Amino acid sequence: MVYCACFERYPRGWGEIGLAGTVDGHGGGSGTYDVLVIGAGVVGCAVARELSRYELRICVLEMEPDVSLGTSCRNSGVVHSGINYAPGTRRAELCVLGNSMMDALCADLKVSMKRIGKLTVALSDSDLPGLYRQREQGLANGTPGMELMDLDAMRRIQPGIEGILGLWTPSSGIISPYGLTIALAENAHANGVDFRLGHRVVGISRAADGDAFEVLALDENCRAPRTFRSRIVVNSAGLYSDEVGGMLGAGDGAIWACRGEYYVLDRRLDGSLKTLIYPVPGPNDPGLGIHLTPTVDGNILIGPSAVYIPDEDRRDYRTTAPVMDSLRREGLRLLPGLAAGDFIRSFSGNRPKQTPPEVGGNADFTIDDASVPGFISLQGIESPGLTSSPAIAAEVRDMIGRRIGLKRRSDFRPERLGFAGCFSRLPLGVRMDMIRSEPDYGEIICRCEGITKKEVRDAIENPLGARTMASIKYRSRAMMGRCQGGFCVPRIVRMLRDEYGYEPEDCVLRGRSSAMFAGRVRDAGPRRLGAAS
Ligand SMILES: Cc1cc2nc3c(=O)[nH]c(=O)nc-3n(C[C@H](O)[C@H](O)[C@H](O)COP(=O)(O)OP(=O)(O)OC[C@H]3O[C@@H](n4cnc5c(N)ncnc54)[C@H](O)[C@@H]3O)c2cc1C
Repeated sequence: MVYCACFERYPRGWGEIGLAGTVDGHGGGSGTYDVLVIGAGVVGCAVARELSRYELRICVLEMEPDVSLGTSCRNSGVVHSGINYAPGTRRAELCVLGNSMMDALCADLKVSMKRIGKLTVALSDSDLPGLYRQREQGLANGTPGMELMDLDAMRRIQPGIEGILGLWTPSSGIISPYGLTIALAENAHANGVDFRLGHRVVGISRAADGDAFEVLALDENCRAPRTFRSRIVVNSAGLYSDEVGGMLGAGDGAIWACRGEYYVLDRRLDGSLKTLIYPVPGPNDPGLGIHLTPTVDGNILIGPSAVYIPDEDRRDYRTTAPVMDSLRREGLRLLPGLAAGDFIRSFSGNRPKQTPPEVGGNADFTIDDASVPGFISLQGIESPGLTSSPAIAAEVRDMIGRRIGLKRRSDFRPERLGFAGCFSRLPLGVRMDMIRSEPDYGEIICRCEGITKKEVRDAIENPLGARTMASIKYRSRAMMGRCQGGFCVPRIVRMLRDEYGYEPEDCVLRGRSSAMFAGRVRDAGPRRLGAAS
């Protein structure tokens, strides 16, 4: 059977969200809650998971068909140390605190994080003032274990590195950003949080009795609006947090999207970077400069650029030829052995900036519960928002505690249950035992990444009920290798058809506008496009 890829047809079935029931305890429809979180990025999911420790009815409304499809799956995945932010800012404080919370959080949630440290490198005398400024900031912010290093010391960490002086921050690390977000969401869900995927918030008002908010959300499946009532609303809508805040007149900040583009390099290069290596950023740079970042899965990222994009579509995640060319040149300069085939894909993520292009730089995070009592606004959560997410969640918890009081649940389970690692990286004996008890571990579906049928099955049957190919990809790592799905996509689609009853024409990559197949081009089956023969 051969399918032709097309993006015009409006898919049904597996593209529908919530066929297995939107995951909630309220039987679909609308609901009444204590806390309603708008946005299921890493911040919204961290807030939901933190609040699930308490006796609260909590709901997360997310407009995309899965969690972590916004900025939270489109970044460098670095756990920052705190040297980049001005002392006294929320970014500095929450970054250092969030960094210190990551080990325990990742252990509970079985998320892979590696503290590989970072070298910020001065290449010439002109970089030195900036490097010393970073060290001063780190000292003031409480960044632990910093060290200034000469070239010999730097080369003991990263052979072959060039530069005149480096700042070593051992608390810097790397993490899977979507892995963390999905784990937070699934653990929150296991602890009773309702997730309404494919629900776009379009209006918020005070309820007539003045005691709660009424939140109107469009259900993307049936296009019908639903009303949710909640005592507290948390605006964690990332790039759209200004629009959501504007629905209630909360906060005065506009958001500008500033795109960062990346190249992803093949895992063949795994191990060639021992640490994170960053240039010294200028005081008014909108990002931290183009750098090489190893990922927890063994790839290397080159990027990100920093270019403001027009406001029409803040979710415009295209990559552009001029930026890609410059990233390719930079990659070849920094890793001279790179071959053309090592560049396996590109992607981009958009920073939710509170400073317009003509100002540039970075504003501080906005965390506000004063403008509209009961409405907590999280705005401008750009970098280091991933690192800061557990600390932001703790702060939101305290704000809610002051307002409505919190009572701990005795049955909160902080650990994520089940297997959440990468099967192919386990010792042989362990793998053999697992195959004996679960034969689907013995069948490889994604050859590049060594992902088994059982791992793909677990991703398909995810507890949030997310039903896109991206949902499988981000949960299992299938489709992430050098062939980018050439081998495994047909196998996964066949699995979905034969074992779950979903037609290939119903598969979507990320949502309704990204149908993967339009019909059969060589098959005895019925023609789906209705073209005259
Ligand atoms: C290029 C780049 C590199 C970065 N690198 C790092 C890094 O290395 N380390 C680090 O700590 N941070 C980094 N960051 C920052 C980090 O990615 C963000 O701070 C973090 O992901 C923000 O999470 P969030 O949950 O606030 O936003 P998002 O992930 O964008 O989530 C917001 C969610 O709200 C949803 N939403 C929006 N409007 C509505 C609505 N009306 N109704 C319902 N849902 C809605 C969206 O669909 C989205 O899922 C980087 C960011 C970028 C862009």
